[in-house]
Amino acid sequence: MTDSVQMDPETLSSIDRRFAFHPFTALGEHMRSGPPMMITSGKGCRLQDDQGRGYIDAMAGLWCVNLGYGREDLAATMKEQAEDLAYWHAFSSMGSDKPALLARRLIELAPAGMSKVFFGNSGSDANDTQIKLVWYYNNVRGLPKKKKIIARERGYHGVTIMTGGVTGLPGLHAGFDLPLPFVKHTTAPRRLWEGQGLSDAEFTARLADDLERLIEREGPDTIGAMIMEPIMGAGGVIDPPEGYYQAIGEILRRHDILIIADEVICAFGRLGAMFGSEMVGLEPDLITVAKGLTSAYFPLSGCIVSEKVWEVLVEGGERYGVFGHGYTYSSHPIGAAVGLRNLELIDEHAMLETVADRGAYLQKRLRAAFSDHPMVGEVRGQALIGAVEYVRAKDPAVAFDPALKVAPRIISAALRRGVISRALPNADTTSFSPPFTISEAEIDEVVAAMRDAVDEVMTELIRAGEFE
Ligand code: PLP
Repeated sequence: MTDSVQMDPETLSSIDRRFAFHPFTALGEHMRSGPPMMITSGKGCRLQDDQGRGYIDAMAGLWCVNLGYGREDLAATMKEQAEDLAYWHAFSSMGSDKPALLARRLIELAPAGMSKVFFGNSGSDANDTQIKLVWYYNNVRGLPKKKKIIARERGYHGVTIMTGGVTGLPGLHAGFDLPLPFVKHTTAPRRLWEGQGLSDAEFTARLADDLERLIEREGPDTIGAMIMEPIMGAGGVIDPPEGYYQAIGEILRRHDILIIADEVICAFGRLGAMFGSEMVGLEPDLITVAKGLTSAYFPLSGCIVSEKVWEVLVEGGERYGVFGHGYTYSSHPIGAAVGLRNLELIDEHAMLETVADRGAYLQKRLRAAFSDHPMVGEVRGQALIGAVEYVRAKDPAVAFDPALKVAPRIISAALRRGVISRALPNADTTSFSPPFTISEAEIDEVVAAMRDAVDEVMTELIRAGEFE
């Protein structure tokens, strides 16, 4: 094997094709065609590949490089922390300075009622932890049946054995025997498909009714929590109708069901506020953060726990002894140092104002370019998160045959124009979630390239008789 590798023309692409096992990738196709590019450096919103080609990253990686690539300030923080204390753990009451300071800062910033922070390494492990907390909480309270987790169709919450099923996207279940039986999904607040012709109030009432019926069917005494992204990201950038979270929140409280806000994308400025829950009127008991906490310079996640839940967890010690959960890299000092500095930078550079400003511009430009486009069913989003969904017909919306791969073809056409967007799973939707530092000129560049890409694919579809 080693010999044949040495005979291979030594390009980075060929090495990647032969040895790297890529996440969320068509494995056979990757072995045949390899990666579209091999990125080697980045600055601001721009990336460069090993062939010297440049790209503008309209997705901030995976909705995470919020302060942009190539920041010397964050790099310096990492270096200093690695020199001072590269690692220390947090098991058995062990402490180190940066995680404690970051936990305090997060509680200062979080919505009222939050009390403690448990650190992990990814959004998936943090949501997994949240679900374990819900189970532990209800065991301590003497409610051992109260374990089912409600999530929404199309919600994205990770890929562990538990969270992969909590995620409501069929592509993450296929072949993995997911979801696990105690996961239940309710209707996603997708206006284009579920709420056509309804007013906000009617649509909210319908979604609330769907949830109430699910709870009654399953039995409220069997349901521990519901998990929600304030605005759904990977599921399609879906912002619910007016009054939705108030209606849902009332039902969940009435049935003693905890609320987990999955803020992995929404927290730390993406919507123009530190927490998305505050923007949408969601009142969580548990909050999950990751991605933008460090602008992806270091893998770090957090479970922010309310005092209400915390008190019960502490009580659990009397029954179960030491809290038996944690990761080697929980409370990693480098991650915590980067998180602290990243939060300072958001403040120092008035990033929330920047997001409000650039966000308004992005939304305006997306709507101007796409709202009346014959192949566009909906333009969605707020601040610096947006999406365009493509349809075969409008009023009523008719989806394309998934085999046509409309969104992936648009993404490839945009990539040929040097713009990186994303085709979201199980829908013909492309998304935008650029670094906060994107300029208006860069937004214009992204939107123009996307518009050309959509027109190119539309022309192909018309020629093939797939679109009129
Ligand atoms: N939750 C949300 C809302 C996400 O968007 C993601 C990732 O995209 C996750 C959880 C999982 O995070 P990770 O990929 O870090 O495990």
